[in-house]
Amino acid sequence: MRYISTRGTAPTLDFAEVTLAGLASDGGLYVPEHWPQFSSAEIAAMRGLPYAELAARVMQPFVGESLTPDRLRELCEQAYGRFAHCAVTPLKQLDESQWLLELFHGPTLAFKDVALQLLGLLFEEFLARDESRLTIVGATSGDTGSAAIDAVAGRDNVEIFMLHPSGRVSDVQRRQMTTVLAPNVHNIAIDGSFDDAQAMVKRIFADAEVTGRHRIGAVNSINWARLMAQIVYYFAAALQLGAPDRKVAFSVPTGNFGDVFAGHVAARMGLPIERLVVATNVNDILHRALSEGDYSAGEVTPTAAPSMDIQVSSNFERLLFDVGGRDGMAMGEQMRGFEGSRAMLLTEAQRAGAGLFTSVRADADDMARAMRWACEEAGEVIDPHTAIGLHAARQQDLAPGVPVVTLATAHPAKFRDAVERATGMRPYLPTRVGDLFAREERLVELPGDYDAVKAHILEHAA
Ligand SMILES: *Cc1c(COP(=O)(O)O)cnc(C)c1O
Repeated sequence: MRYISTRGTAPTLDFAEVTLAGLASDGGLYVPEHWPQFSSAEIAAMRGLPYAELAARVMQPFVGESLTPDRLRELCEQAYGRFAHCAVTPLKQLDESQWLLELFHGPTLAFKDVALQLLGLLFEEFLARDESRLTIVGATSGDTGSAAIDAVAGRDNVEIFMLHPSGRVSDVQRRQMTTVLAPNVHNIAIDGSFDDAQAMVKRIFADAEVTGRHRIGAVNSINWARLMAQIVYYFAAALQLGAPDRKVAFSVPTGNFGDVFAGHVAARMGLPIERLVVATNVNDILHRALSEGDYSAGEVTPTAAPSMDIQVSSNFERLLFDVGGRDGMAMGEQMRGFEGSRAMLLTEAQRAGAGLFTSVRADADDMARAMRWACEEAGEVIDPHTAIGLHAARQQDLAPGVPVVTLATAHPAKFRDAVERATGMRPYLPTRVGDLFAREERLVELPGDYDAVKAHILEHAA
């Protein structure tokens, strides 16, 4: 399998190269040159497979020659063996048509672990081949940071610099990052929003002074391998609910558009998906883009679902490229226009091509009501992000017999203050995160200034 850039001019790469690369050199994102297809019979034959084996089957066409099928299966077994539930991503029924897919049983309690536990192993595997080193630079609104740090802490050929917006992540989220004291882990709190942090990371990737000295890698969902690992649980859930003989809808709490883009890929590969619901909070650029064609960034409003407090959704570019005719030159022009003015209109082809998607915007009341409904009607305590997804799922008017699966993206204990405010219940932190509040923290605070961040990275990278 070869990978091409959404902006048309970067060199094509194989899977191992694309895993170690960040942004493409033309500023675009890598996508597979074509979508692998599974027939109905091939999908039916996946029923009942253990998660790690299903993962290896679904991902093998994307990995191509970069790993043998046996090695890929071993890595999947190792990555998913660290999950606290033996089903890895268990599915729970809430009422006749509503389901929850619990993606938070990994080491850091958010769905990011599903992809990052595997990505950490892929980095190690591919770096060992040419004895090279990787300097990871990432931005996090909370969950990517802890999941990425857990996945690479203590490994010798990888170093990680993680930027988070100071004061805008929950205590649990911050401590999951800052209490990891391994020498290859560098936490940076910046004075600014997640979008500011993400913009700095993009500049680092394009800064020849940095890239000339270090091989810079990505753990944000601009990294293709992350999206690839997320395709698997769409298959896992749909198979349990009757695929390929029955269509399933998914509702996805969305920020950077990575998770729901993986659903789009699953549909492209032949999984019968009825609808993909993009659930946003009041930071609703994606809702405006999908409902009105207007992709224009405003200011970020902090909410109780901080992992969705995003205006610019990197992976939306992958969708627009894929549904708008896969024209890299046109895409590059459209995105450069957006980067100049922070606004663009979707083309007719892009709007028509995104027909599988719908979107719902949820405010703080909608979110709290969904948390209470889950508690009172289904006996499930859910986190604020999941609640936004569930609110959107419950707005859908689908044919009888079409189940809606809400992706439960974080463990409620990760956002226990918000959960307690809405429901009166205070979720316990699972024992696997241990004595988080007793541990020492280490981080540096930097101003929201690119030169300061760059200087810090250059000074501390080995
Ligand atoms: C990252 C995250 C999201 C958003 O996922 P995207 O792939 O960025 O759209 C939603 N909920 C939680 C809990 C997250 O950590």
